[in-house]
Amino acid sequence: MDLYEHQGKELFRRFGIPVSEGRLAETPAEARAAAEELGGEVVVKAQVLTGGRGKAGGVRLAAGPDEAERAAASILGLDIRGHVVRRLLVERATAIAAEHYLSVTLDRGAKKPLVMFTTEGGVEIEQVAAERPEALRRVHVDPLDGYDQEVGREAVGDDARALDLLERLYRCFVESDATLCEINPLVVKPDGALHALDAKVTIDDSALFRHPDLAGWRDASAADPLEALAREKGVTYVKLDGSVGILGNGAGLTMATVDVVVVAGGRPANFCDLGGGGSAEGVVDALEVIARDVQVRSILFNIFGGITRCDEVARGILAALERVAIGVPIVVRLDGTNAGEGRRILAEAAPPGLHVEPTMLEAARRAVELAT
Ligand code: GDP
Ligand code: MN
Repeated sequence: MDLYEHQGKELFRRFGIPVSEGRLAETPAEARAAAEELGGEVVVKAQVLTGGRGKAGGVRLAAGPDEAERAAASILGLDIRGHVVRRLLVERATAIAAEHYLSVTLDRGAKKPLVMFTTEGGVEIEQVAAERPEALRRVHVDPLDGYDQEVGREAVGDDARALDLLERLYRCFVESDATLCEINPLVVKPDGALHALDAKVTIDDSALFRHPDLAGWRDASAADPLEALAREKGVTYVKLDGSVGILGNGAGLTMATVDVVVVAGGRPANFCDLGGGGSAEGVVDALEVIARDVQVRSILFNIFGGITRCDEVARGILAALERVAIGVPIVVRLDGTNAGEGRRILAEAAPPGLHVEPTMLEAARRAVELAT
């Protein structure tokens, strides 16, 4: 889950990372009031889940309430890389002597957190990495040994303030179950103090149950509506960009089904994992999510009955078809416990648009054919 800048800063604040004082605003009048309250020069910032706001005109300095109101009017409604601005953060402006970059991310390849630091902040980090790689320090942290001063010095040097800040950022990363904590720019103020001028934080979705307060920050309006529906119904759903909707039980079989659809010449539109169950309720929920994806032209239902019995799954499919109207053909492959009975139940009911195939490959070929 990606956090908005104002949320990331709230999290930083909890770990003692210095951030600007600010207020949220949804109208120019609210931005004016916020500027009046804060006093002096302010910066008005678009709150959208994408970077590059500065370049897109989504970050503006304002000398006082009048300018803040005007800046707000020009930023609200802006489309920044497909994200429409509905909310602003009005902050007390910070005087900048230098812009650095500091982040902790999860390097999946190395299976370790990675600290990155450069004194050439402000611009996009990819650009520094590509053009001046020697200017970017990259230091891995052994997750078992944890963070220590040696790691810190290697990353940011001997400066006590930078070391203290990195230690706090690393704690924030670990204790929040984050996969990204990025400060760009990390500014040096004229008096030498460090200050997080921006905050980009991603929390591991699978760890959100440990952070109910952060989970409550999720913005339902910004999320993909199907992903939101799936989450609400407890269905594991991943959106892809092909035309075959995939429903499997268990992560391994579901992944294998995605592969087989590709082998059969097709492209998956999404996949849903029913998990161990196969109850009518679970099948209805999953079918409902899949069928609402407008890219889906056929659905491949691949079930291996272990503890889940195929006859039960077959009844689940029939019950689901009675409850939700599915406008596309469904191909079913059932194997494992009570597969024979499951297939017989489907054959006898023979609902229109339902095809039963004996093997995974044949089912995938059929589904791909029906999707084109
Ligand atoms: P991004 O473009 O989405 O990464 O947004 P940032 O929050 O990083 O802001 C972009 C740029 O706006 C920064 O690099 C700063 O140069 C400038 N900026 C943001 N806040 C302030 C501020 O308080 N004072 C000054 N002088 N500049 C600011
Ligand atoms: Mn930034």
